[in-house]
Amino acid sequence: HPFPYRMEGPVIQGFGRGSKELGIPTANLPVDSSHTPWIADIPSGVYFGWAALRLPKDHPAATTTTTTTTTTSPSSGGGEEEYSIFPMVMSVGYNPFYKNTVRSAEVHVLHAFAADFYGVHMRLLITGFIREEKDYAGLEALIADINFDCEVARQSLARPAWKPKQVAEDGTLDCSW
Ligand code: ADP
Ligand code: MG
Repeated sequence: HPFPYRMEGPVIQGFGRGSKELGIPTANLPVDSSHTPWIADIPSGVYFGWAALRLPKDHPAATTTTTTTTTTSPSSGGGEEEYSIFPMVMSVGYNPFYKNTVRSAEVHVLHAFAADFYGVHMRLLITGFIREEKDYAGLEALIADINFDCEVARQSLARPAWKPKQVAEDGTLDCSW
């Protein structure tokens, strides 16, 4: 299955590993492999791409955000749906709650949010692979690697070729390639 991969869903509670305390909160998405058949076959590791978050203007997480792209459209309910687009790094691994047989997906959004955004709908466009999963002897090495992953993602996504080509009214992302 070629890049890009797409998945979406509400942001759910993660494993409570304290990612936030490390300065690297990861927004977890439910993995439903019937909608994302590719997820069973890709290597565990770190990926990068774009995240579209449906953050209403008055959401506490939206107060200090500078969005790179915002689309507004009438939703079926008659209100407004606004998707803000951010670069992201993503870890694909195995869910410890399911004895490491079911995939997990966690996304660190490369943006400083004013508040949490559990329950918010997130769409992902996964454009590339950074590295395979690694075991770490200590927390410091882990954090250093993650910070490096963030930098790789930022610089990759800043290149014109990685820019999202279009953002549809429903927040659907497409590539420029
Ligand atoms: P959990 O175990 O519930 O996933 P985390 O410590 O990983 O807890 O924190 C994740 C939560 O932090 C996300 O669900 C989201 O609501 C919030 N959050 C705030 N800023 C970010 C960010 N930049 N990237 C991802 N999540 C963030
Ligand atoms: Mg998490």
